[in-house]
Amino acid sequence: MSSTTNFNADLHCHSVVSDGTLTPEALAERAHANGVNLWALTDHDELGGQQRARAAAAVLGMEYLEGVEISVTWMGQTIHIVGLGIDATHVGIVEGLRRTREGRANRAKLMAEQLLKVGIPGAYEGALHFAGNHDLISRTHFARFLVEQGVCRDTEQVFKNYLIEDKPGYVPHLWATLDDAVAWIKAAGGVAVIAHPGRYKLSAMQMDELYKHFKDIGGLAIEVITGSHSPNQFATYGKIAQQYGFMASRGSDFHDPDESHIDLGCLPHLPDSLTPVWSMFH
Ligand code: AMP
Ligand code: MN
Ligand code: MN
Ligand code: MN
Repeated sequence: MSSTTNFNADLHCHSVVSDGTLTPEALAERAHANGVNLWALTDHDELGGQQRARAAAAVLGMEYLEGVEISVTWMGQTIHIVGLGIDATHVGIVEGLRRTREGRANRAKLMAEQLLKVGIPGAYEGALHFAGNHDLISRTHFARFLVEQGVCRDTEQVFKNYLIEDKPGYVPHLWATLDDAVAWIKAAGGVAVIAHPGRYKLSAMQMDELYKHFKDIGGLAIEVITGSHSPNQFATYGKIAQQYGFMASRGSDFHDPDESHIDLGCLPHLPDSLTPVWSMFH
């Protein structure tokens, strides 16, 4: 399948099983209504929504790839690796993700302690209230709680003022290693993709090292068209994909109808000069 204008793949989004606000079924319907032909649910560090997403897509006659977005620590920074076309029941990835999730509850408690020090009480319970899956408490749930409390007007402002490095609610965390994440995805029969490369606070040299190492260990693609990239970045990362010989992926990173700038399936198509990652699956 090529990236011709009538094929609509959206291979990155989140449900209530991680930090999205819609169920897998509601996401499937929304994707289908928006014209998506090939869909993947890619919850953070969690495969609990895969069966529901696959079943809902099948009912709608929409092609589906089992997916995940794995939190990784690389050179002291958090990066995200998407896995596509995995077997979500494969023991290696299931067990690896269980370990990756483990530290989240403790991190959340530390975040709440720090927020208390700046005059925001009850953040742990408050964030938990927004988490559809208590094993997957994320900064996004804290952001929604702080908006509810009237501390900030939207989640973007909460991240900017409270939840990123050097801000009061930020707690550093050690996620999976890049090598483990890619190995789990490969062993589960999937393709590893660097998510939203434009978002990382890494130097050009570090990014070069990331691409080369990722490629060495069997990583095959990067996201080019994503809700996290500006139009300039679509061009930049299209060139990177060609330069390093990666396939290109496309995904909205949709979380919520009000919070997400880009809806499911509603983003530019991949340039024809790139090899779509879904060519692996057709
Ligand atoms: P966590 O895995 O708990 O560290 O949370 C990461 C999630 O927070 C990401 O997947 C995004 O959904 C969200 N996020 C990160 N940075 C921002 C930001 N600047 N604005 C809004 N949401 C963000
Ligand atoms: Mn998220
Ligand atoms: Mn991400
Ligand atoms: Mn995401």
